[in-house]
Amino acid sequence: MRSHLKHFINGEWVASTGSETINVINPATEEVIGQISNGTEEDLDKAVAAARAAFPSFSQTSKQERIDLLNRIADEYEKRKDDIVEMITQELGAPLKMSYKMHYNMGLSHFRQAAKELETFEFSERRGSTLIRKEAIGVSGLITPWNFPTNQTSTKLASAFAAGSTVILKPSELTPYAAIILAEVFEAAGLPKGVFNLVNGSGEIVGNGISSHPDIDFVSFTGSGAVGQKISENAAKTVKRVALELGGKSPLIVLDDYDVKKAAKMAVANVLTNSGQVCTAATRTLIPKSKKDEFVKAVKEVLPQFPVGDPRDEKTYYGPLVSEKQYDRVQEYIKKGQSEGATLVAGGTGKPEGLEKGYYVKPTVFADVKNDMIIAQEEIFGPVMSILTYENLDEAIEIANDTIYGLAGYVIGEDEVTVDRVASSIRAGRITVNQAPADFSAPFGGYKQSGFGREWGDYGIEEYLEIKAVVGMPS
Ligand code: NAD
Repeated sequence: MRSHLKHFINGEWVASTGSETINVINPATEEVIGQISNGTEEDLDKAVAAARAAFPSFSQTSKQERIDLLNRIADEYEKRKDDIVEMITQELGAPLKMSYKMHYNMGLSHFRQAAKELETFEFSERRGSTLIRKEAIGVSGLITPWNFPTNQTSTKLASAFAAGSTVILKPSELTPYAAIILAEVFEAAGLPKGVFNLVNGSGEIVGNGISSHPDIDFVSFTGSGAVGQKISENAAKTVKRVALELGGKSPLIVLDDYDVKKAAKMAVANVLTNSGQVCTAATRTLIPKSKKDEFVKAVKEVLPQFPVGDPRDEKTYYGPLVSEKQYDRVQEYIKKGQSEGATLVAGGTGKPEGLEKGYYVKPTVFADVKNDMIIAQEEIFGPVMSILTYENLDEAIEIANDTIYGLAGYVIGEDEVTVDRVASSIRAGRITVNQAPADFSAPFGGYKQSGFGREWGDYGIEEYLEIKAVVGMPS
């Protein structure tokens, strides 16, 4: 049992002013693995004061100092590889190899990428006698979800540090320990006092406190749409800038010129990654009507290559969902799919055989899904694929865009002109072609109700900057 009841404020581990705690559960075993403090408003006030006090000097550090700092952070992060991998497996239930390949590496990539971006990033631009300056935005409040405990935190933190902004982080109370390791990494890297502050606790108290705090200048939030709306409303009262990374219901369009078996494998891999708990998951698979039977058969054949199981088993592709609440939610959606008349071609309700303990969900595939069904419109956040058909490309694009979301889209096809047409027609912030690997320099963020703002790379740094014009600057 790990008991980590202290917050990290002004460069020190300090006790909470409250006495309430929150249990952290391993979703694979359903056992309590530790506790954190349920932070209070007073804890948050201390953290904000520390971040505010650190801002004047940190925001004036040179670009080179911040490049060196980000690289030192990345070096220290690498030293903690085993701890980070183990922790993500324990608190999220991700298979060990995924905790390394995906979670650990994504976190690392953001720090290295931010350092690289800074090399060429221009903080000022002269237009005749006017000087345009980009200055650190101030104190930033970061609120993150549980599904990518190192990725979501690191992208925000790397961008904030690159810009010279000081921060208060409130990670998800479901997966707080990866963020505690990050705090230790920053300590080891010699981050100046007060630049990074960690306050653990609930959304109701610490999260709400961040979005309404008069001394916080900017809030970057990743999580659900409902909470994103509350944050926007709160932030409006002090005219705080907000960036929201919310949910998605992303389409994956398979073109008729592509090998069906290969496309099925890509689609399955996408939807089962991280147990389907991915905001960019391609949960609506659109295939030409004439290829439906062939595609469904190929999906069924490929499923055994992506086994659900114990995160510590080398063969496991995906582990349990993060919590009982998420498990129940996904079960309800599977029932809805059946009652709405979609054809269940694999999986279904209940636990997979032999995995009765832990929040495991069967890999579930629905065919004959219509886009107005609930399972095609709402974010399920579980290992559930919906297969829809289209008659022609216009219809495919219309279906793809018939959603309140616009976070991501996927195209699988050979013909460059058609791929380009689809990519430019989908109203979403990131389009991936033929399962291309992630590009950490490319902007990440949503259209429509998937939110606003961009993370990753140079666009991510821009989020933490204000723009100033100095007019009449002598040359
Ligand atoms: P959530 O919105 O419930 O929680 C996210 C964070 O917000 C947590 O740290 C939580 O404690 C905090 N929070 C809760 N209530 C709050 C409040 N009133 N004020 C301020 N903060 C509050 O989401 P979740 O359950 O952690 O994650 C699942 C959802 O997040 C899914 O719907 C998914 O689509 C979305 N998500 C989106 C992205 C993205 O990048 N777009 C990434 C991951 C998750």
